[in-house]
Amino acid sequence: MSFVTRDGRDWTPNFLTSIDAEKCIGCGRCFKVCGRDVMTLKGINEDGDLIDLDEDEDDEIEKKIMVMNDQGACMGCGACARVCPTNCQTHMPPAAVAA
Ligand code: SF4
Ligand code: SF4
Repeated sequence: MSFVTRDGRDWTPNFLTSIDAEKCIGCGRCFKVCGRDVMTLKGINEDGDLIDLDEDEDDEIEKKIMVMNDQGACMGCGACARVCPTNCQTHMPPAAVAA
């Protein structure tokens, strides 16, 4: 698989493949720079379960974290990695994702 930029230069995407829930602080920076809806912010309740933030359960939320929402939509631009303050994301090139 080969990828190129608009003018034909070689381009190797670096796809977001996972987010470390222990390290993520739910700051939302990655979400703001991603134009592909790859991630979504969720809450974690006291039992450690992921819950939607639009539920009326704000009192139960212990922590917010970013999770993968639609990883197949990622185009591997790497913008999310640049803004993450905790370096909690893992990115991989197409060959590694396909393996
Ligand atoms: S690499 Fe780019 S497209 Fe993929 S999740 Fe990060 S910001 Fe979105
Ligand atoms: S930028 Fe990093 S720490 Fe902030 S929400 Fe995204 S993955 Fe989590």
